[in-house]
Amino acid sequence: MLYIVSTPIGNLKDITLRAIETLKSVDLIAAEDTRHTRILLQAYDIFTPMTSFFEQNEKAKTEGLIEQLRQGKNIALVSDAGTPGISDPGYRLIRAASEQGIPLTVIPGPCALIAGLCLSGLPTDKFIFEGFLPVKSAARRKRLAALAGETRTVIFYESPHRIVAALQDIGDTLNDPQVVVARELTKKFEAVKKDQASKLAAHFSQIPPKGEFMLLLNLSPNVYLPEISDDNSDYLPSVQPGWDKHPGRGNWNNK
Ligand code: SAM
Repeated sequence: MLYIVSTPIGNLKDITLRAIETLKSVDLIAAEDTRHTRILLQAYDIFTPMTSFFEQNEKAKTEGLIEQLRQGKNIALVSDAGTPGISDPGYRLIRAASEQGIPLTVIPGPCALIAGLCLSGLPTDKFIFEGFLPVKSAARRKRLAALAGETRTVIFYESPHRIVAALQDIGDTLNDPQVVVARELTKKFEAVKKDQASKLAAHFSQIPPKGEFMLLLNLSPNVYLPEISDDNSDYLPSVQPGWDKHPGRGNWNNK
């Protein structure tokens, strides 16, 4: 059996009892980065052997893992964070297992896009996940322009290095909509910021973003969220003004 196992997106406590049980009982864990997953395994006294399974070796390793599954081994697939296959390695192995009639199942759990969507305050009834936007501006703008008229909530993953460029392009191509930036979900500095794309781009040009970020927007004219005010004194000292602070959490290295 191939087990697709979700793991925490930041807070080590966000793991299900089934995930722990499964990771303890399988013969092998195929992990995106074995050093990263080792932290999780150590936290829960899991001593199962691991093998690395990341984007660059996914193709080469799939055959060997499928062979082991055929021989009756139980393998758990995990990524560095969240749900394998969601902007992470896994799809190729899952597809091969499914094509070849190998039993597979999922141990659901954390997934950043769902966490960010729920927290954003944007409509959750219909949404689309766009993954990462293209790195090059022309391709990014083209993809964004194709979203004009979209009424569902749109979710992007984004690298902190490209947040400013992505926000500028969102502003230019989509008539400067309101964007929700969700950062460091489930971690110590979890926070959400809502503003127009151009204002957020200006903000992050001044204060370079650090950590893990998602962008969310809804282009329907009747969806508007109050901006987070800069003079709210409730923020914990660790959070800059202008962020909607949520109660404190943990970190991979700091349970
Ligand atoms: N498989 C993961 C999942 O289920 O969400 C996503 C992996 S993808 C390589 C990593 C991206 O997800 C990050 O660049 C960021 O956009 C988003 N992400 C992951 N963890 C996050 C967190 N704690 N807070 C905000 N965004 C996060």
